[in-house]
Amino acid sequence: MSVDFEVQRRRIVESLVHMGYLKNPRVIKALLTVPREYFVPAHLREYAYVDSPLPIGHGQTISAIHMVAIMTDELEPEPGDKVLEVGTGSGYQAAVLAEMVAKQDPSRRGHVYTIERIPGLVEFARRNLEVAGYSEYVTVIEGDGTLGYPKQAPYDRIIVTAAAPEVPKPLLDQLRDGGRLVIPVGDLYIQRLLIIDKVDGKVKTRYGIECVFVPLIGEYGWKIKY
Ligand code: SAM
Repeated sequence: MSVDFEVQRRRIVESLVHMGYLKNPRVIKALLTVPREYFVPAHLREYAYVDSPLPIGHGQTISAIHMVAIMTDELEPEPGDKVLEVGTGSGYQAAVLAEMVAKQDPSRRGHVYTIERIPGLVEFARRNLEVAGYSEYVTVIEGDGTLGYPKQAPYDRIIVTAAAPEVPKPLLDQLRDGGRLVIPVGDLYIQRLLIIDKVDGKVKTRYGIECVFVPLIGEYGWKIKY
């Protein structure tokens, strides 16, 4: 049976709008545009638009669509922004961000830097981004994202898509004044989304929804084997 991914994509986005998860028209446009089916393993492609996390190998997951929608909505990326993502996974969230900061308004071309600690997923994400047509807008870096990526700092927006025990200090240091950081913080079982704004050098934190992510492992994250 052939699957019409475009129809499925439209249906899930409409239902997320209906449920109130998606409000920002530019996030809606990005989710309607990025082909999620290119970011899941081939044998799971027919489930690409099921709204749940899916395994991508190495014990990791591509986040559920509603989670990508909520986090991107909270992040409010603007055309022209320089964005850092920690936890590349499949590359899907990075492509959604690239769509918003670099493709929606070609006169303001931003860039997405995304860090992944597992080499096999770095390769997986690079391939997916290439096939989906986003590789010129996204740089995938292999390493410990809890240290940030000082080479390109400061960032307008930083998003962490793995569960942190606390906010890694290097990420706060690498956030531009006026910038925003979105990160799930909690224990290994449940976290809360923190939305952190840096205003005049001071940090203001708002608390978002509860969520469940795989652990952020690294120097300023969890020190466990996973
Ligand atoms: N954003 C991803 C996507 O769109 O597919 C999903 C991310 S997945 C839920 C979390 C990812 O964070 C995993 O691929 C994991 O290997 C990665 N990760 C965990 N700790 C990390 C660290 N310190 N630096 C970079 N990546 C890390």
